Amino acid sequence: MTDTATFDLLVLGGGMSYVGAIRAAQLGLTVGVVERDALGGTCLNRGCIPSKALLETADLLHRVTEQGAEFGLSGSEAIGLDYSALATRRDAIVDKHVRGVEFLLKKNKVTVLHGSGVLSGPTSVRVSGGESGDVDASGTDLILATGSAPRSLPGLEPDGERIITSDEALKRGSVPRSVTIVGAGAIGVEWASLYRDFGAEVTLVEFLDRIVPLEDPDVSRELSRVFRKRGIATHTASTIDPETIRRTDEGLAFTITAREGDGRTEHASELILVAVGRRPLTEGIGLEAIDGLRTERGYVIVDDHMRTGVPHLYAIGDIVPGFALAHVASHEAVVAAETIAGHDPEPVRMDLMPRVTFCRPQIASVGLTEAEAAEQGREVKVGSFPFRALGKATIVGEVDGFAKMVADAGTGLLLGAHIIGPHAGDLLAEPTLARLVEATAAEIAMSVHAHPTLTEVLAEAALAVDGAAIHV
Ligand SMILES: Cc1cc2nc3c(=O)[nH]c(=O)nc-3n(C[C@H](O)[C@H](O)[C@H](O)COP(=O)(O)OP(=O)(O)OC[C@H]3O[C@@H](n4cnc5c(N)ncnc54)[C@H](O)[C@@H]3O)c2cc1C
Repeated sequence: MTDTATFDLLVLGGGMSYVGAIRAAQLGLTVGVVERDALGGTCLNRGCIPSKALLETADLLHRVTEQGAEFGLSGSEAIGLDYSALATRRDAIVDKHVRGVEFLLKKNKVTVLHGSGVLSGPTSVRVSGGESGDVDASGTDLILATGSAPRSLPGLEPDGERIITSDEALKRGSVPRSVTIVGAGAIGVEWASLYRDFGAEVTLVEFLDRIVPLEDPDVSRELSRVFRKRGIATHTASTIDPETIRRTDEGLAFTITAREGDGRTEHASELILVAVGRRPLTEGIGLEAIDGLRTERGYVIVDDHMRTGVPHLYAIGDIVPGFALAHVASHEAVVAAETIAGHDPEPVRMDLMPRVTFCRPQIASVGLTEAEAAEQGREVKVGSFPFRALGKATIVGEVDGFAKMVADAGTGLLLGAHIIGPHAGDLLAEPTLARLVEATAAEIAMSVHAHPTLTEVLAEAALAVDGAAIHV
């Protein structure tokens, strides 16, 4: 028997959309969320949270074993990794936060329909195959939020054993002896960093000319330098020739070929980890039946309030163009919820979105790079300051990296900030707020930064925009 359920707002996909579901409930709407797997989606179960749990141990291990003696900790070199204890901690963290999301949805009286959903109209979903049974659910409005899955390359399709994606890497119970990572974007360099700290031989293969190709080129250069120092081999402008892959007793043997010319390197590793980006999960959910819905390369096209153009139908997160990041998805979900509830939230702006990559050294950026500003025909002035010159960085024992600020040449308005170094992700909050309130580099410098803190790197970089940095 098929049940029916009606809501003011129905959400298809219970990943980061849960934040918007709660916001809508706070604003007085009845809300239903359809989820076929665990609540919290990729971020909580297969992405941000478990990967950062591993990275935290990687950092701790590095600090204790490689820096412990210098910090006065005797016997620290002998400390090793217990991967099964780490996996237990990783899973406990995920579990705790999935239960937290379940609790918050319940507290806000959001109904969760457990099962797979297919659109039966712009604001209705047929749910089946889960513990909620068969349900015809509908809403006055609907938010599509079905997320994304790893992409692969022809000939490098994951087999779950020797050729894997981040999904399988996260489930593994041990560290490979050696790994070749294809793709040096955020996910690729995070795995390179953590596997290296765990003692694996790591090779990074990137098709474009530099690693972290979406970041400022100075950041790519600094990461390359530090990765080289850490023993991570990097092949840029290169790819694995899938025709050459063969299984060996130890894993896989293959050829890394240069993108141009005839450079070839014979290589072997236990695993290939494919980290070439994500594809929106928009097939098989009934989109083709919705008249007037615009999609491009699988992405649902929306305006800056997440409206699809089909009345009452919204979309958020990894299925829409823009940065595929958890906080972007949850912010978009809140904007959609508030719009649906009749409020007039500020539009979503990608140029205000912070981006963090949790390799070591960490990378964080917001707004325009110098090159992007130039492409837009803007005249800029740039200031940069190295962590090496900062007392706190010396105390922390992490002196690689810098902060770089890009400001409008005429007004001094902060256009972008790019940080590579210790706690870069946390440091990014200040330039992100500065971008929102349209602060100038001079105003960032004018705001007094406590001493000794890593935040001083921002004040000095802001001073450097006008050639006035003190400690260089
Ligand atoms: C390894 C890795 C590390 C990452 N690290 C970070 C990070 O540090 N910081 C960051 O900001 N972002 C990170 N991300 C990206 C982040 O996880 C995503 O941007 C975010 O999860 C997108 O949220 P979403 O709600 O759009 O999609 P998802 O989180 O993927 O949620 C979609 C949900 O919809 C469900 N669903 C799909 N189809 C159906 C259906 N037909 N019926 C019912 N349910 C359905 C899925 O089961 C899923 O739960 C990482 C991603 C990966 C893979």
